[in-house]
Amino acid sequence: MECWEDECDRTATVELHVPWDDNRFVCAPHARVLGRQDGVVADPIGDGDDLIGV
Ligand SMILES: [Zn+2]
Repeated sequence: MECWEDECDRTATVELHVPWDDNRFVCAPHARVLGRQDGVVADPIGDGDDLIGV
C-alpha cells in the first residue's frame, strides 16, 4: 500500500488516527510531520517492510 499523501509513492508503514478525520495510511516521513498535530496518534502497521493486508 502506498502513502495516501499526494505526490508520495513511498510505502505506507503507519496508520494515523485523526480525531477530526478518517484514519489515513502514510509513510514514515509523512507520519512524523502529520503526527505532530494535537490528538493524532501514529500506529505502526505491519512489521518493517512486510505489510499486513489491511
Ligand atoms: Zn508519504
